[in-house]
Amino acid sequence: MTMKNWTETQQNRLIELNADDQELCQTFEDETQRNRAFQNRVTELIKTQKSKLEKMRANERRPGLCSLSDQLVASLTGKGFVQVTTPTMMAKTLLEKMSITDSHPLTKQIFWIDSKRCLRPMLAPHLYYIMKDLLRIWEKPIGIFEIGSCFRKESEGARHANEFTMLNVCEFGLPMEERHARLEELAGVVMKTCGIDDYKLEAEESAVYGSTIDVVGTEPEDLELGSGAMGPHPLDDAWKINETWVGIGFGVERLLMAKDKGNTLGKYTRSLTWLDGVRLNL
Ligand code: ATP
Ligand code: MG
Repeated sequence: MTMKNWTETQQNRLIELNADDQELCQTFEDETQRNRAFQNRVTELIKTQKSKLEKMRANERRPGLCSLSDQLVASLTGKGFVQVTTPTMMAKTLLEKMSITDSHPLTKQIFWIDSKRCLRPMLAPHLYYIMKDLLRIWEKPIGIFEIGSCFRKESEGARHANEFTMLNVCEFGLPMEERHARLEELAGVVMKTCGIDDYKLEAEESAVYGSTIDVVGTEPEDLELGSGAMGPHPLDDAWKINETWVGIGFGVERLLMAKDKGNTLGKYTRSLTWLDGVRLNL
């Protein structure tokens, strides 16, 4: 006898309603049995999702994206880092300073507003810009960070969104020999704030920085949470900066995904159809 799996439509609905992996692999003796099980399960899952929304309305009243961002702000300012808020629109000239010119792989991913400006695909150019001035004004070491939307045209769905939230934290003017430890420490602060215990640091190749140190979540499977780099770096010349530095860019939705051990990014993003991880077509 051949066993029946969920239809694709059923499967998708179950995923939306947060069914677990085990349920998604369930098999049935015939279609009638399967369809009945589907109806029952959907009714239960809807109930659970509604009660999740009720709880959120009664207690936190904010999506995880907002509350985690606040917790990260508290942790980093607590460690002496200063928050900055730069424009969401970015000048083409600043991207060019990151070596992202017409031939660069990232160029194809950029949302252009007009011939001179785009929606920022990353925070680093703006942080470099501000840091160049702060280095003249403040005593070193200087730590700053920004949390804000970034935009990239992406084709792969489950781990990428066109609009996502980046946390970029960096420190300039620290002793050369402390950079590695500091990078690990920063990753540790962010992981601790998120409540992510399962992660590792990995050396990676990056299109922008050459070599990077990635922070990779390992549960339920490997997921890049952030990419770190160190300076002095060849890109610094364009900003007339000659300093030691460390920096890491994290995706905040990826952090939420890892914290929940989830497998889709969509429910954590800015959204019209999800509210705090609950699909609103209940
Ligand atoms: P990936 O290889 O996963 O596409 P990346 O190496 O291109 O990511 P980075 O430029 O290193 O991304 O950006 C820093 C972080 O921002 C990533 O580690 C990831 O957490 C997050 N991020 C990047 N692109 C996206 C996206 N499209 N949607 C959600 N998060 C993203
Ligand atoms: Mg990366």
